[in-house]
Amino acid sequence: MSDVIETDYLVVGAGAAGMAFTDSLLAHSDASVTLVDRRHAPGGHWLDAYPFVRLHQPSTFYGVSSVPLASDGLDRSGLNAGFHALAGADELRAYFAQVMHQHFIPSGRVRYFPCSDYVADPAGGHRFTSRLTGASREVRVRRKLVDTAYLEGQVPAIEPPPFEVAEGVRCVPAGDITRLNGRTGRFVVIGAGKTALDTCVWLLTQGVSPQAIRWIKPREGWWLNRRFHQPHGLLPDLYAGVGLQLQVLAEARSIDEVFARLEPSGSSCASTPRWRRRCATPPSSARPSSSCCAGSTTWCAWAGYGASSAIASCWTTAACRPTGTRSTCIARRAA
Ligand SMILES: Cc1cc2nc3c(=O)[nH]c(=O)nc-3n(C[C@H](O)[C@H](O)[C@H](O)COP(=O)(O)OP(=O)(O)OC[C@H]3O[C@@H](n4cnc5c(N)ncnc54)[C@H](O)[C@@H]3O)c2cc1C
Repeated sequence: MSDVIETDYLVVGAGAAGMAFTDSLLAHSDASVTLVDRRHAPGGHWLDAYPFVRLHQPSTFYGVSSVPLASDGLDRSGLNAGFHALAGADELRAYFAQVMHQHFIPSGRVRYFPCSDYVADPAGGHRFTSRLTGASREVRVRRKLVDTAYLEGQVPAIEPPPFEVAEGVRCVPAGDITRLNGRTGRFVVIGAGKTALDTCVWLLTQGVSPQAIRWIKPREGWWLNRRFHQPHGLLPDLYAGVGLQLQVLAEARSIDEVFARLEPSGSSCASTPRWRRRCATPPSSARPSSSCCAGSTTWCAWAGYGASSAIASCWTTAACRPTGTRSTCIARRAA
């Protein structure tokens, strides 16, 4: 089957970027929009996010302009108590579905094609193909192609690990630890970004002992203190945080000094105190191969991680030890 669709804008990707762009077009022009996404629903990577993910900033700051994501209330319990609420994956998926089905499509100006792959036509045209039926459609674009896939990230849930996994090692994407069967003695979390940090925090909040978690990361991350990134009534703290940072930037004589001073000021912090950091870049000879854990089903192992031999070094020094209990390797791509 092949037919032609005419549209002012063809937006590839119904993630946060494509949704926000379409929302602005609807608000500020009379343009028609055709939205194409290979996923089955709007929301982009949030459809595959790990179950315990939350936004890292208040929901008020996120979403499309015309539809507020959440009420402006403060969380009253949990780790975020006292601060503005952070939407989780379920809320985000519901939110983007609501924006699509209660705002975009009823406007009569948006056509939405989920489960469809966009392919640029070699001759300069545009085409998308249904992943379910194989039906292909040509799109004639009067004004612009907006390809939000330029910024598309990769999430562990739908990508294979970017390293080899030795035989006998149980290696799962971070979110899958919520569905593990049977007792697991130890957890190895791999990665230096938000997902890895969330995974460690989630395990701790489930009562897993810190001694049972080994965190392997290629570098130290710097994290902004959420206290200084709040809207509305807590806005004075935001300005206080900006003031702290500007003061440090004005007075420090080197980048190292900037970070050395930001940490005690409380505006930024690292997940490991400075005196305990050990993930220095090692010589490449320190990189282990999967054979370093051969013959055992109780270890996690991999060989090679692209440019990051630091991960391998941490593995050698910190993680390749017999545990006596089963280990689960939670694979996380370093973000
Ligand atoms: C775990 C995690 C937590 C995050 N938390 C925050 C946060 O708290 N705050 C924040 O501001 N940002 C956060 N981010 C950053 C996040 O990437 C953005 O907020 C935003 O969701 C990205 O939207 P996007 O539309 O650019 O990309 P995506 O969500 O990746 O959407 C791109 C879409 O394009 C589609 N697509 C790609 N190629 C094609 C093609 N050829 N044909 C059809 N469809 C195609 C994909 O299927 C996908 O649905 C987080 C990211 C991750 C991974």
